[in-house]
Amino acid sequence: MFWRLFLTYLMLVVVTIVLVGLLIAQRPEATAGELVGELTAALALIVIAAVGAAFVLARWFARPLVELHEGARKLAEGDLGHRVRVRGGAEHFELAETFNAMSARLADTFRLLEHDREQLRAILSGMVEGVIAIDERRRVVFANDRAGALLEFDPANAVGAQLATVTRLAPFHAVVDKGLAGAVAHREEFGVPGAVPRHLSVYVSRFTGHGTPGAVVVIDDTTDVRQAERARQDFVANASHELKTPLAVIKSNVEALLDGATADPEACATFLAQVAKEADRLADLIKDMLSLSRIESGALGLELRPVPLGRAITECVERNLTRAEAKTLTIVEKPPTDVPADVTAWADQDGLRQILDNLVDNAIKYTPSGGRITVRWGATADAVSFEVEDTGIGIPDADVGRVFERFYRVDKARDRAQGSTGLGLAIVKHLAQAMRGQVRVSSMLGKGTTFRVTLPRAGSA
Ligand code: ADP
Repeated sequence: MFWRLFLTYLMLVVVTIVLVGLLIAQRPEATAGELVGELTAALALIVIAAVGAAFVLARWFARPLVELHEGARKLAEGDLGHRVRVRGGAEHFELAETFNAMSARLADTFRLLEHDREQLRAILSGMVEGVIAIDERRRVVFANDRAGALLEFDPANAVGAQLATVTRLAPFHAVVDKGLAGAVAHREEFGVPGAVPRHLSVYVSRFTGHGTPGAVVVIDDTTDVRQAERARQDFVANASHELKTPLAVIKSNVEALLDGATADPEACATFLAQVAKEADRLADLIKDMLSLSRIESGALGLELRPVPLGRAITECVERNLTRAEAKTLTIVEKPPTDVPADVTAWADQDGLRQILDNLVDNAIKYTPSGGRITVRWGATADAVSFEVEDTGIGIPDADVGRVFERFYRVDKARDRAQGSTGLGLAIVKHLAQAMRGQVRVSSMLGKGTTFRVTLPRAGSA
């Protein structure tokens, strides 16, 4: 470009000198005054020509710069990837190409950043934990949907708002305070009272990267974990207590025998009978506890296959007939009239037998002499069901919802005397669930109780 400018002006100077030389050579007779006049006119013409040329040249050189300036402005306004088309020399072309390459790189980098941001947002949104990022003034920078659900706020409206206005949950702010005050990350759990009490775990970690101090708060709903832990603790406490009771009776009876009760054959027989009874209780208890634990852990290895329901019920009634008759109870089976007699359940044979035996055993235990036990069954297109109904003592309304809990007994002393471990119905419930079925109970105090079990029908989709 420099050379083009230089040559253009050099040409003008040469033309001026040539013109002046020609003028002097052609007019040897002209006076100095005439020559000065003509030279002035010629110079004036040359100046006009030079100004014109300078104007044209200036425009010619300025145009690419104007175009570049326009392109840069568009880029600054956010039109990333904007390309300029420059007319001019090779230098302008090169400059434009450099500009276009830079613009394309900026657009690519921005797209990449945008993609990364969206990816991060999608990851955070998909998390089961709630995530809130706050700046150093505790303004919300980001909050995912889960955080909104756990702390009951709208994440879309939370960005930019003060954390204190987003949620008023005092224990939450107390944990955040501790997290922001400490040098290391802080985690704490607290209970949230309400219609459905919950348990939340909050983790606060400060960050100071790249001059944007703030903190990230991760919230987790630990209600289920806490409940499971409490259930486990209750189970251990109950199990220890239940095991201790028969052991204490055995121990005291054995001590009585050791202290000389063997000398009295009648007392000896009573003590030994007690020992035998409590040993049986212990065995039952341990058997039920192992059963329950195997069902819950999935280690029972249920073999699901078609099991004829009618036959399973008939066999159960036959097994329990002697016990029922010993208590002068009537036990009857009521097959359905509207479904084939050979209808099959999709079940584990031993599991189904255990369910039936537990329910019929309870019916016998909790129905006074002269009562009646009816086992009826039926089926729909995709399920089979059976009911064990008795005319027994019934279950009070306050207890009916709890009889499936482990070790739950309506009347501890009374039921224990019946040989109750309080685990039978828990086993029934877990077995039914393991076979993708369910169990329900309805009862009227003093009138009787009905347990209804539903299981998938074999062959249904
Ligand atoms: P268990 O098998 O040791 O009796 P369950 O878990 O089967 O324990 O039963 C829990 C409690 O539910 C029993 O202690 C009893 O109070 C009550 N119950 C169960 N079945 C009946 C029934 N058919 N009639 C009245 N009460 C019942």
